[in-house]
Amino acid sequence: MEAPALLDVHDVRRAFPRPGGAELLVLEGVQLSLREGEIVGLLGRSGSGKSTLLRIISGLSQPTAGHVMYLGHAVQGPARGIAMVFQGFALFPWLTVLENVQLGLQALGLPPEEIRKRALAAIDLIGLDGYESAYPRELSGGMRQRVGFARALVVHPNILLMDEPFSALDVLTAENLRTDFLDLWKEGQLPIKGVILVTHNIEEAVLMCDRVLLFSTNPGRIVTEIKIDLPQPRDRQDPAFIALVDRIYTEMTARQTAQRRERLGGTGIGTILPPVSTNLLAGLIEAVAAQPYNGKADLPDLTADLQLEVDELFPVAETLQMLRLAEVEGGDIRLTHMGKRFAEEDTNVRKEIFARALVSYVPLAAHIRRVLDERVTHNAPWSRFEDELEDYMTEEAAEATLDAVTAWARFAELFAYDDESEMFSLENPQ
Ligand code: ADP
Ligand code: MG
Repeated sequence: MEAPALLDVHDVRRAFPRPGGAELLVLEGVQLSLREGEIVGLLGRSGSGKSTLLRIISGLSQPTAGHVMYLGHAVQGPARGIAMVFQGFALFPWLTVLENVQLGLQALGLPPEEIRKRALAAIDLIGLDGYESAYPRELSGGMRQRVGFARALVVHPNILLMDEPFSALDVLTAENLRTDFLDLWKEGQLPIKGVILVTHNIEEAVLMCDRVLLFSTNPGRIVTEIKIDLPQPRDRQDPAFIALVDRIYTEMTARQTAQRRERLGGTGIGTILPPVSTNLLAGLIEAVAAQPYNGKADLPDLTADLQLEVDELFPVAETLQMLRLAEVEGGDIRLTHMGKRFAEEDTNVRKEIFARALVSYVPLAAHIRRVLDERVTHNAPWSRFEDELEDYMTEEAAEATLDAVTAWARFAELFAYDDESEMFSLENPQ
């Protein structure tokens, strides 16, 4: 029989109002439940609405539609029994470790001796014994995050929400803290019954979670659930572990590709372009072309090799796919014929290949070039295109998209942009 649900999220939708009356839909139709004894992972890219969902679950923010049930009651404000650990630690710099941890308890109205006793116990549990009177600035990042954990645990919550708690830490520190956390959890030493871990790190999700929910972007919704039924402690080298990581990569790239095709099916110039530099694009092509990959690489291997985060690698791989310089499929990236040529050629030929790819596969680049070609003066203001893009996307996204296409066009010498006059122009009009 399944353990009873600690938490049920029913059909949650969240939209933010935008100037002009439109709305930004961030979450739609989100359903999930957390049962006793579980660590559930929410895996999605930055901007997919993970933090927004955690805030709704904790009662810090309200959904536009749908609701959250916690132990049988609808969550309507900050819920007692649900605590959060943040990526940025969120400590008060002017308070000591002990004072920061005690802060969580003051709202509960306990007697001062009880507050102190429980705070000291939490500090001890998480491995900070002896640092009670230190200030955050005197601590390393890993120790600061331990304070973050102690402050969340000290209230003896039923549910711990973790919002990318390890992503601001260096690799070794993060791994130590994960291991310590898992040890305490397994030994039943943590005063919590269930955990939701938000992350964009696939291996971290496979290492820590019992189930992983994959989150899509625009709007954020849960598209797949993957059970991780490997025994703890888990070994990153175990073939079963590697197979699960591979499977999640495959799922994530497949979804994103399908989504992008859908979007491209629309108007074309309304596609949001990622802020990926031509250096990164060329770097990835070169890495895949070189030994040991020879034109085809497993994405998890490549991520580890290049010491990139998934969040950094995916946009680069997808941009190469959009430009038809590579194909992404089944967790692999494979250079196309043009991609291989790009890798072999010198800068001048690279620029030509890139310019052709932009004109053929990036409707916005082709559009700007056409406008410049047609105008007698061969120039046009930035604002003209930004206004046009804002019919399809937010002001922020329009600006980022124009920035991206401008940087690519500069490299390809497809058109130029002058920051001073805020004008696009043709370098070599035809
Ligand atoms: P994630 O945690 O997955 O990176 P977030 O939940 O932080 O994503 O953000 C998802 C989207 O919602 C982003 O586009 C962000 O700009 C937008 N967003 C988040 N909070 C607000 C807010 N208070 N007002 C307007 N937009 C917001
Ligand atoms: Mg976030």
